[in-house]
Amino acid sequence: MPKALENLRQDFPLLARYPELVYLNSAATSQKPLRVIEALARYYKEQNASIHRGAYTLSAQASEAYEEARRTLARFIGAQAHEVIFVRNTTEALNLVAYAWGLRNLREGDVILLSEMEHHANLVPWHLVAERTGAVVRGIPLHPEGRLDLSSLKDLLTERVRVVGLTHVSNVLGTVNPVAQVAQVARAVGALVVVDGAQSAPHMPVRVRELGADFYAFSGHKMLGPTGIGVLWGRAEILQNLPPFLGGGGMIGEVYLDRSTYAAPPARFEAGTPAVAEAIGLAAAAEYLMEVGLNRVWQHEQELLQYALKRLDEELPEVRTFGPRGADRGGVIPFTLGHLHAHDVATALDQQGIAVRAGHHCAQPLHRWLGVPATVRASFYIYTTHEDIDRFIEALKKVRDFFK
Ligand code: PLP
Repeated sequence: MPKALENLRQDFPLLARYPELVYLNSAATSQKPLRVIEALARYYKEQNASIHRGAYTLSAQASEAYEEARRTLARFIGAQAHEVIFVRNTTEALNLVAYAWGLRNLREGDVILLSEMEHHANLVPWHLVAERTGAVVRGIPLHPEGRLDLSSLKDLLTERVRVVGLTHVSNVLGTVNPVAQVAQVARAVGALVVVDGAQSAPHMPVRVRELGADFYAFSGHKMLGPTGIGVLWGRAEILQNLPPFLGGGGMIGEVYLDRSTYAAPPARFEAGTPAVAEAIGLAAAAEYLMEVGLNRVWQHEQELLQYALKRLDEELPEVRTFGPRGADRGGVIPFTLGHLHAHDVATALDQQGIAVRAGHHCAQPLHRWLGVPATVRASFYIYTTHEDIDRFIEALKKVRDFFK
């Protein structure tokens, strides 16, 4: 029998160590279950070796464990193993695409179309590549409730658009974007579709082929895994023709003094000694999530979201929340409290044991659009409980009363 999600907290040593902590910042980084921590320790205690090079047994075992981790991550997103590239995080994955694909394919006047709710990780790499190629960045505007204005695509999607970059789920508003719908029209004009999955892979079932994207990026540390490891998925047919992003050991075919040839994907994109232990830890996290069931994770967060929004609406009229109200919304609540600065609210919550994040959440264009310099963000995950929400609401009432 699967465990009730409200009982999962005991699997997380940090949460067990601080029973009074209400951790509502999983959108930034998640806590780790014991199984992931043990997978890392076991690797170092029992298998640690240089992979893909050593002729000895230990190296062969470590190499196999690393490749098994790749197969697990492929299963996690419904892909083939050779389409899974291990990177450090979403940021590195998106830089890889921008540099490797963008520098080769973008020309002066080409358009990179990005939504106005993108995280800086899916903006700045494109700015850097636009500067070097003469391409221009344009935005997909938003409706007031925080959804994409899909009607704008008709005019925006000209044949000059070479890239459409879109977050699957907004890290601020929680909006679940209709990626498949956008991908279909974007690919019809020949644009590359790059999806930032940092906030979707941890929280919902994702089948990359069904999304219709060309690339999909996510981070291990947001989905119960270690830091320093993430995944870039790319369509095999695109990866095949993509030049490397970083050069060095492990990614080559033949090297001469003045030139080199490159390995086939995914090795072509994994220069240098990879994060072997972290990849194995991430696979343990993916297994854990698959055992619980990503549908249940999503349902659990939906329940918490509806419960929290209802209580906020009814009991704290001074709180202004942002983001769409509907089934297309993940477990993230950005808000302001009266005219208080977001950092003051977050600090006052911290004094009551509630960990939330305050600031622009690496989405400055979105905050400009919202018309506020900063928001407080409470975000939920697999181990968040109704009691956590109750404690959060009561603490927020105290903050309100204190600053009255
Ligand atoms: N994209 C989104 C939507 C995010 O929420 C984040 C992390 O906050 C990132 C990208 C960047 O992730 P990382 O810092 O792990 O590269």
